[in-house]
Amino acid sequence: MTTTVFVTGASSGFGAAITRRFAADGARVVAAARRGDRLARLAEEWDGAVHPLVLDVRDGAAVADAVSGLPPEFADIDVLVNNAGLAKGLGPAHLADLADWDEMLDTNCRGLVHCTRAILPTLVAKKRGHVINLGSVAGTYPYPGGNVYGATKAFVRQFSLNLRSDLHGTGVRVTCVEPGMGGSTEFSTVRFHGDREKAADVYAGMRPIEPEDIAESVHWAVSQPAHVNVNTIELMPVAQS
Ligand code: NDP
Repeated sequence: MTTTVFVTGASSGFGAAITRRFAADGARVVAAARRGDRLARLAEEWDGAVHPLVLDVRDGAAVADAVSGLPPEFADIDVLVNNAGLAKGLGPAHLADLADWDEMLDTNCRGLVHCTRAILPTLVAKKRGHVINLGSVAGTYPYPGGNVYGATKAFVRQFSLNLRSDLHGTGVRVTCVEPGMGGSTEFSTVRFHGDREKAADVYAGMRPIEPEDIAESVHWAVSQPAHVNVNTIELMPVAQS
């Protein structure tokens, strides 16, 4: 049986690595994000096993249409990886740009809910499957300037726990993966409004969690025996305090 995996935010960072990890294992992967050129290049690596899907997770109707319109060989989803997310405008709350906050809420919370709602019926009907949500240690440990970003990731953590409770008896598993400081350069510069110098300063002397580390942990959670639910995985760089 070939596993079918639906990965959001697959055009870069963790999502691209998760796509590659499952494709390397023989899975079919729907790789979703907004930047179609990147997805097309990723799909080219895998000779038909990766289906590029241009999708903005913030648009609930578009997500539902995209999921119901998948080609038959990619429609029977077993694993949903809700990875799309961003951190913007980290800094003092009283100076924050509301547009940054809205974008994080719409992507990290609403986007995740849209994809979950669209794909859950397939998993429940099969009485098996797995939802993996990318949270963050920022959802548990506060830090100055982390305000709304941290709150969106606390949402992801609590939604994951509640979802697991809801799905009791269905056979569908739920895991929340919570990374510490990651080595995805795009993510790190977005956090600092594209200021690469500031990002380099914060990351100096630290070997971050790599996208492949996250991909391995997601793959490990999915590979556990069907009776085992890995609730939460928290990964931090050794050098992160
Ligand atoms: P990247 O910025 O490298 O990747 C984010 C991905 O999300 C991109 O593929 C982007 O694709 C996609 N995305 C953003 N907005 C949307 C949208 N509206 N619709 C669809 N896709 C979208 O970040 P990372 O790989 O580092 O982060 C992945 C996840 O891990 C995020 O949820 C992040 O919060 C979390 N995380 C990251 C950490 C880190 O240090 N890197 C630490 C802890 C958690 P596109 O722009 O093409 O749409």
